[in-house]
Amino acid sequence: MNKPLQLGDARIHRIEEWSGLFMTPQTLFAGFDAADYARVRQHIPPAYLNLETDSLLACLQSFVIELDGRRILIDTGAGNDKDRPGIPLFARLNTPFLKTLEAAGFTRESIDLVICTHLHVDHVGWNTMLQDDAWVPTFPNAKYVFTDPDAEYWDPQNRSRFPNMVGEQVNAGFFEDSVRPILDRGLAQIVRGPTILMDGLRLDPAPGHTPGSQTITVESRGQRATFVGDIVHHPLQVFCPTWNSIFCENADQARATRSAVLERVAHEEAIMIPAHFAGNHMVRVSRISDGFAPQGL
Ligand SMILES: [Zn+2]
Repeated sequence: MNKPLQLGDARIHRIEEWSGLFMTPQTLFAGFDAADYARVRQHIPPAYLNLETDSLLACLQSFVIELDGRRILIDTGAGNDKDRPGIPLFARLNTPFLKTLEAAGFTRESIDLVICTHLHVDHVGWNTMLQDDAWVPTFPNAKYVFTDPDAEYWDPQNRSRFPNMVGEQVNAGFFEDSVRPILDRGLAQIVRGPTILMDGLRLDPAPGHTPGSQTITVESRGQRATFVGDIVHHPLQVFCPTWNSIFCENADQARATRSAVLERVAHEEAIMIPAHFAGNHMVRVSRISDGFAPQGL
């Protein structure tokens, strides 16, 4: 989607930070099953999966929702200038993300609310930017919404309470440069449990990928869109909801949440907008006899 999506009176803009070939299904998915893959791969168009090299295509992208005169930014990508010893792909980036945002009509100052679907290195980066050797909030007039479980879990000061952390290495550094500066300036709004942020904007806990993962549902005039973050990384997981990514913190919980969210999105007839879908960047989900199928790939 390059033009905004009109959803009732709301409008959704996609802001791309990066796109390209990512990993293979065999390496990204902890629950990869060769027989299932052979069965479903033919249903995935080349904009999402290169069948010759078995490479997944992915995006780093944010979304701006215009709703009732407010501008709400969903997820903030990898960011520029960050030290990322655990994931060189996102280290010291110098992308024109803010220019892309401005070209879509949004200055940094115009953003009212930032919501992270979860706290991971590729969802918090533009929370801050480097100014005179300090990390300062990129969106100075915004409140930043984080969930309580993620704010606790990823704070290095609480490390000893979470001995079985999966993503410590790959996520090294993000809390101190992209979350702590927001907390320190009192710009964070920490939410717990299901939350109505405003009319037509609902947060629902969806733990597993991270303890505080959440979905964000926008509703206007009976039309819905649900941002699911990394609960579904790739269309293959709609067909195969038991496939976790290797970045999921709690495997059993992540599988249960993925099925529950797909069920809810199908039932609510919402457009599902995952964080990393390439191609058309969003799908509808339909219930089929033995599971789910993505529509509109
Ligand atoms: Zn992600």
